[in-house]
Amino acid sequence: MHCPFCLTSETKVVDSRLGGEGEQVRRRRECLACNERFTTYEMAELNLPRVIKTDNRRQPFNEEKLRQGLMRALEKRPISMNDVDEVVMRIIRQLRALGEKEVESRLIGEMLMQELRQIDEVAYVRFASVYRRFQDVNEFYEEIVKLQQATTE
Ligand SMILES: [Zn+2]
Repeated sequence: MHCPFCLTSETKVVDSRLGGEGEQVRRRRECLACNERFTTYEMAELNLPRVIKTDNRRQPFNEEKLRQGLMRALEKRPISMNDVDEVVMRIIRQLRALGEKEVESRLIGEMLMQELRQIDEVAYVRFASVYRRFQDVNEFYEEIVKLQQATTE
């Protein structure tokens, strides 16, 4: 973070708080060279864990990717964009609550499936079938049976 007054990169954070609904971090910084103070607004994604892919590569958490996966699963389903946004926000909150620096992508997939299961069963099965790459029809069937059991309980 560079000082906007003298452009040095030596600054320190003197205060840090969550803004809005916790999606934004407001930081008060002080320049160590010229002592000017300034405020930065950073998206809270910066605080989110990095994602460990199955091939062990690390990537920054990508909210847009999550939203697109969700919308693909919800294609032609009676679910509003508002619901989609809420699911994305809930997952982000869960991830932040973990307080981990890194999480496996599988964990995000599981969170997404739990959320889908709550809002739309058809979308849940559709997503699960792709996400878990069912080996054969039996596995797919088992998932549907589990789903029916869960809803009749
Ligand atoms: Zn400065």
